[in-house]
Formats: sequence, structure tokens, C-alpha cells
Amino acid sequence: MNDLGTPVLDDHLHLDPDHGRGIEAVTDFARSGGTHLLVVNKPSWLLGVEAESGDDFRTVFDTTVDVVERANDILRGRAWPVLGVHPGLVSKLVDDRGFSPAGARDLMQAGLEVAAEYVADGGAVALKSGRPHYDVTDEVWSASNAVLRRALELGAETECAVQLHTEATDDLTEVGEWAESVGLPSERVVKHYAGGELAGVTPSVMSDKDRLERAVERGEPFLMETDFIDDPDRPGAVMGPKTVPRRVSWMQEQGYDEAIRTAHVSTPELVYGLDTEATLSD
Ligand SMILES: [Zn+2]
Repeated sequence: MNDLGTPVLDDHLHLDPDHGRGIEAVTDFARSGGTHLLVVNKPSWLLGVEAESGDDFRTVFDTTVDVVERANDILRGRAWPVLGVHPGLVSKLVDDRGFSPAGARDLMQAGLEVAAEYVADGGAVALKSGRPHYDVTDEVWSASNAVLRRALELGAETECAVQLHTEATDDLTEVGEWAESVGLPSERVVKHYAGGELAGVTPSVMSDKDRLERAVERGEPFLMETDFIDDPDRPGAVMGPKTVPRRVSWMQEQGYDEAIRTAHVSTPELVYGLDTEATLSD
């Protein structure tokens, strides 16, 4: 077990105990020095769930809640679930299942409302939403923004952070303003799969060295992630579960100790209210 002498949080990864590596990936992460995880449920359709109501998302959420419990037996720190509805679902619903954009919006909002129940009950720490990263029709785009804005409202009501999957951009100022307008502080909105620079909300930076160096130079709050998808059919598609601890070790060699503290202690506290030091055992 490699001890890097600091909490090490991967802010966004997936675990699929039925089809992927599941808990083995957590063991790899922990052996490399990783201590804390935010585990995001996989897109519902990848688990074979064709939701027709908000309640149909419960099996998707429960899979993540269960694997997080098992991860907590392994980690020196803790894992927490992040639950929501993947923005790509809108296209599955409209293109493959005959939903209208408004019907897709309603179903996705209903799924988010169920996710917010888990957060309110202490079963999850944050919500996940967003909008497509690819071109869509105007109707689908506005339905997606309505879903995203509902997630921000639910974050405000539940007093939790909201992770977003969005188009590639370094400016989400408008989304940050939407959050503030409903009472959710914009720093509690996180863009997952972010580059090293981002205006408007907090970046969860993909852990390659170039992006991390930009985040370090910028000196603002940021998180680190892999977006490990735990999909046996796409083994090389993303970073593996050892990546964040390895990058922290590299950051230590570079003398980036202040940035390590930012990404693994102060930003998790700022965004999620999580204390990664108090939840770390020896
Ligand atoms: Zn992801």
C-alpha cells in the first residue's frame, strides 16, 4: 500500500461490478496511494435499464450505492456516490425510443428528482447532470438545458453540489449564473472532464500532465479525475484507476504541494463539504 502522505481523491469515475472490474479497480487505486473516490453511476442504458419513470433509475443508483459500500471496506479514506441522469440519454430517448424532446426532459427530470432523494437521505453526496457534448437539434438542446437547470434547482434545494457533463468549453459562466439565480453557489457546480482552465464553475480536471500544469499555474480551486468507465469493451478509452495517485506522486516531484492540497483537501471541502483529512485513517 503506497502512502503518499495526503488524501488522494478521484473526483469522477465509474465502477461496474457486473460487467467491468468493479472492486478490483478500487484495490488498484488504493494500492497506488488513492484514498477517496466519488463514484458516478453509469449511464442507465449501459446497465440495460430502459427507464420509463423516475423510479426506474433506482436500480442504476442502487448498483452504485452497493459498490461504494464495498469500496469503503478497502479504502483508507472513503467513497461516496454521485447520482444522476447522463445527458446523452436524451438522444437515446428521442432517436431510438420515440420520445418527444419534452417527454425526454420530463423523464430525465424525474430521474434527477429520485437521485435528489438519495442525497437528501444521505445515500449520495452530489447530483450529476449536464447537456450533450455533440450537436443536437434546437429542441433537444433546450430540453437538455431545462434538465440541467432542474438539476441546479435540486442541488440548491438539497444543498448539494452538481457535477455536469457538457460540451468541451473553458467558459461555463452562464451556467454558473443559472446556479446562482436559483440559490446554488456556482463553485458547487463542477464541470467533469475539464481542462486546466475554466470560467464560471469548478473544473474537475482530467489527470494528464498538460491539463494539470495549467490548473496548477492558474492557482484556483480544482479537482482531479480519471473518468474511468470500467467498461471491458473499451479498455483503453479512458485513464485507469491508478492515474490520480500516480499524478499526485508526479506533482510531489514537481513541488506542486499547494496544488495537491487544493485538489484533494480544500476544493472537496468547498464544493462538496467533504473533509478528506478527517475521513482518512492511518
Ligand atoms: Zn463519467
